Amino acid sequence: MTSYDVAIVGGGPAGSTAAYRLATAGASVLLIDKARFPRDKPCGGGVTGRAARLLPFSIEPVVEDVAHRLECGLRYRHRFTRRAHAPLAYMTQRKRLDHFLLHKAAEAGAEVREGETADARELDARIVIGADGCNGASAKQLGLAEQVEHGVALEANYPYEARYAGAMVLEIAVIRGGYGWIFPKGDHINVGVGGNGEEGPKLRAELQRMCEAYGIDPAAAQDTRGYRLPMRLTATRLARGTTAVIGDAAGLVDPLSGDGMYEAFLSAQLVSEAALDVLAGRAETLEPYQAAVERRITPLTRAGWQAKRAFEHFPGTTYALARLPITFRALAKMLQGDMPDPARARGLERAAIRAVYAVSCAGLSRISRSYRSAASS
Ligand SMILES: Cc1cc2nc3c(=O)[nH]c(=O)nc-3n(C[C@H](O)[C@H](O)[C@H](O)COP(=O)(O)OP(=O)(O)OC[C@H]3O[C@@H](n4cnc5c(N)ncnc54)[C@H](O)[C@@H]3O)c2cc1C
Repeated sequence: MTSYDVAIVGGGPAGSTAAYRLATAGASVLLIDKARFPRDKPCGGGVTGRAARLLPFSIEPVVEDVAHRLECGLRYRHRFTRRAHAPLAYMTQRKRLDHFLLHKAAEAGAEVREGETADARELDARIVIGADGCNGASAKQLGLAEQVEHGVALEANYPYEARYAGAMVLEIAVIRGGYGWIFPKGDHINVGVGGNGEEGPKLRAELQRMCEAYGIDPAAAQDTRGYRLPMRLTATRLARGTTAVIGDAAGLVDPLSGDGMYEAFLSAQLVSEAALDVLAGRAETLEPYQAAVERRITPLTRAGWQAKRAFEHFPGTTYALARLPITFRALAKMLQGDMPDPARARGLERAAIRAVYAVSCAGLSRISRSYRSAASS
């Protein structure tokens, strides 16, 4: 006889919201985190509208600013601003958000253990879920999420500047495969740069350059820290038998935006549905979770890889497309959760997305041409 219906390793956004959903549905849930909360996690703390909409409760108590405005720059030379009617993202701090979510899980009835390191192979439960982030060991222990690429990011906090209130600032193509950002919080601003894994050694200088370009004193940086962004290749396996991985442990960060909280919340929801089916005897394994990820997340991941390629190889063209009001409308709908699958966009928005896709295909053929010429030389 096992002690718990479900054991979850890791109490970040993925683990806590899975625990909340399962406990609310009546399952006995153990949620273990090696840290004691409130604990911080390197993150811009931007919860997109679509991520917030996925949650069965409001995160309003921990929201410090709301971004309706996008300010987008290209290599510190060109810049445009667009405004949306609905929130693009809610700005929070991870130490506050994660503590709030953990508390919600406990309130729903999950047994929460802080300050304990767990091994996913040794838990006494019918179902085991790995939600221990990109540096966790559960994916390896369970033999899951083996094909994951890592991006890197570096961020710091700076004194508050009112001019950034209500804004998301993105500076594209300053780092290969990524961008710089400025996100406003209640009493400070968060500034960061991130991109492909091999860009790591350049991040410190680029963070300084980003600050200088925006008139922020680089010397005022506090809590400077770097971290990895796990992005799975779409074929990788996320469930086996009655075990599964979710969130960053599953490598679900969006390849283009580097956001992962939407995917953390959504994978938590999908694994909870699959787990409840197993507990009720309607299914024998969590494999349907894998199928649900393919339906709900993989199309976005694919679109993310395509757009990332387009930005990487033709930043000027992609930026020109991105600044078209129609492209912003499509982007805003994606961020707000009104367009769950970009492949199903309609009308002019579809044309804008297809144009970005065409640029990404050109990027691909440029890569294969350079491989061919390298192979023949
Ligand atoms: C610099 C940076 C900026 C980002 N900005 C954004 C953003 O603005 N918006 C966005 O949506 N996403 C952003 N992301 C991505 C986002 O931070 C992650 O996708 C998100 O944290 C994933 O949540 P998670 O619950 O899967 O993992 P995590 O948040 O990493 O939580 C994992 C938890 O597991 C615990 N743990 C690890 N090992 C063990 C163990 N053996 N036993 C017990 N517990 C364990 C850890 O203590 C931790 O609490 C950013 C990432 C980086 C690096």
